[in-house]
Amino acid sequence: MLNIILFGPPGAGKGTQSAKIIEKYDLVHISTGDLFRKHMGEGTELGKLAQEYIDYGNLVPDKLVIRMVEVKIRSHTGTKGFIFDGFPRTVAQAIALDEMLDKRNMPITTMLALEADDDELKARIRLRGKTSGRVDDQNDEKINNRIRVYKEETLPVAKYYANQSKYHGINGVGSIDGIFNDICMTIDLVK
Ligand code: AMP
Repeated sequence: MLNIILFGPPGAGKGTQSAKIIEKYDLVHISTGDLFRKHMGEGTELGKLAQEYIDYGNLVPDKLVIRMVEVKIRSHTGTKGFIFDGFPRTVAQAIALDEMLDKRNMPITTMLALEADDDELKARIRLRGKTSGRVDDQNDEKINNRIRVYKEETLPVAKYYANQSKYHGINGVGSIDGIFNDICMTIDLVK
């Protein structure tokens, strides 16, 4: 099994690189942001519960996120592995994920962390907002809030996996293919 956490602040390129990684390594993509947007689009109970948090750039409560991920993992039993994109975003989520995966004897292989500075991130999110239709991509206050939430609540997750010697930083600034190359080199070293 190859289980990867693709980590990084909003706008770091996690979605773009995930699409390339799943194709090359034949993995199942679990993006909690995409899953929530699907729920909101379909107007499910979970979508309604998550909407307000997402619109303001705050984190959806751990319990809701963890349950949603567990359902997804359970529905893909025969896979070669998973790529987790935008999850875990809190240490509580990381602990829950480790428990879920340990139970199935398929621990996280590596965390790949895309790194980019705040100005670059803000510029990318604003650009994406022109076409993504995402409310949370289109307003500076919300963008700033997401970056603040990342630093306060999500960055400790990097330390959590560094303590397990699973953290690998990747320079997230450059060409999409150049960054993908660095990612593949790291995956091929650890798998
Ligand atoms: P993303 O597409 O990953 O940027 O996620 C968009 C929004 O969905 C975030 O700003 C959060 O409001 C919510 N969200 C996505 N993943 C998580 C998570 N793992 N924990 C809490 N909230 C999340």
